[in-house]
Amino acid sequence: MSGHFSGLRLAYESLRGHTGWGRQWGSSELGDEYDVVIVGGGGHGLATAYYLASECDVGRIAVLEKGWLGGGNTARNTTIVRSNYLWDKSLALYDHAVKMWEGLSRELNYNVMFSQRGVLHVAHDEGDIRLSRRRCNSIRAAGVDSEWLSPEEVKELVPIINLHGRFPIMGGVFQPRGGVARHDAVAWGYARAASGLGVDIIENCEVTGFDVKRGKVVGLETSRGKVKAKKVGLVVAGHSSRLAELAGFRLPLMMNTLQALVSEPVKPMLSTVVMSNGVHGYMSQSDKGELVIGGGTDLPVSYSRRGGEGWFSSTTASIVELFPCIRRMRVLRMWGGTVDVTKDRSPILGKTPVENLYVNCGWGTGGFKATPGSGHLFAHSISRGEMVEKAAPFGMERFREGCLVDEGAASGVAH
Ligand SMILES: Cc1cc2nc3c(=O)[nH]c(=O)nc-3n(C[C@H](O)[C@H](O)[C@H](O)COP(=O)(O)OP(=O)(O)OC[C@H]3O[C@@H](n4cnc5c(N)ncnc54)[C@H](O)[C@@H]3O)c2cc1C
Repeated sequence: MSGHFSGLRLAYESLRGHTGWGRQWGSSELGDEYDVVIVGGGGHGLATAYYLASECDVGRIAVLEKGWLGGGNTARNTTIVRSNYLWDKSLALYDHAVKMWEGLSRELNYNVMFSQRGVLHVAHDEGDIRLSRRRCNSIRAAGVDSEWLSPEEVKELVPIINLHGRFPIMGGVFQPRGGVARHDAVAWGYARAASGLGVDIIENCEVTGFDVKRGKVVGLETSRGKVKAKKVGLVVAGHSSRLAELAGFRLPLMMNTLQALVSEPVKPMLSTVVMSNGVHGYMSQSDKGELVIGGGTDLPVSYSRRGGEGWFSSTTASIVELFPCIRRMRVLRMWGGTVDVTKDRSPILGKTPVENLYVNCGWGTGGFKATPGSGHLFAHSISRGEMVEKAAPFGMERFREGCLVDEGAASGVAH
């Protein structure tokens, strides 16, 4: 295994041709029995396994991943991190995550490149201003950072923005503690740290069925054979409905394709993340210099990761309205992922009709930002057998009882 990362170690390794780094996480064979099995080796699943191992005394833990770690939405997303949601329940959940992001590289001894460069939502008309200011005030009242910026202040923060185009900019809500992180490093960092604590991480191992006895999960069927499990956490994002069906229940989720693209790399020109719900697009600049651009989901319900072509022209047209100076730039690549969207645009964290089977899904277009907080709360909930306080409002019974946490406005296009 790779050992501890430090400046001294880096200098030492550079002198001997970087030959001593070793594997980042162990390669495990599937055991016969575990106390907890996490299905899904994305950021949320790996974070859950790490906090189960580091903070909860639950015994043997395994993560089963059907492909490679982070190959789902974790390494397909545009990495925006923020906690400026409308309702107190969401603010508590997402700000728990932002606080954890702030110390994550140190905790994992792995550079997840969390950069608090701020996230700005621009407003284009009087209605937009009213809604944005209301959201800004409610976020501040809950003790989370949020500032209203005038058009002049927006221009000062983002000199390349066009204030007076077809979609004039009349101000914006800014969260200075928001930012971006390196997505696959998050999966790798959690995998490395969890593996160091004895978690079995098994890639190329697809869960194909559940062994349920008298309403209680007791094991799983996988492409590598059967395994017994006392508790199971389902953390499979866009595959959640399929796996829930195999376990015998339904989830209130819709699957859509969400696409993104990056431009060719250029010198630094944008130092924050800019989002517009009005034109349905957002943009940031990666450390490599690429402009990272995203927009809304494709409308049809679909498991296809390719997405429709109309998305490309409408998203780039919107972004060019805000940033005319990029109109001649070339697109390097575009891609899509299958996002699991709930009616109220809030996640599902909770128990299921099958005893000892827990589910963490429904993060839709905006779950990357929650990765550390989601894993932390889910781990403690699995360990206790009850959802902990910040996770409790997000059980799926809310759809039956009508206690929705409606974040449509805060997450409609913004991620
Ligand atoms: C284009 C795009 C842009 C986005 N932008 C942002 C953003 O800027 N900010 C933000 O906060 N969020 C964003 N998101 C959303 C975010 O990516 C997701 O909410 C988040 O990554 C979900 O993480 P996860 O670990 O739950 O899921 P995933 O990373 O998808 O992990 C689930 C894993 O489960 C595995 N799996 C599935 N079925 C099985 C099975 N049967 N057996 C074993 N393993 C299985 C999959 O292979 C996968 O690796 C974006 C998403 C997309 C697609």
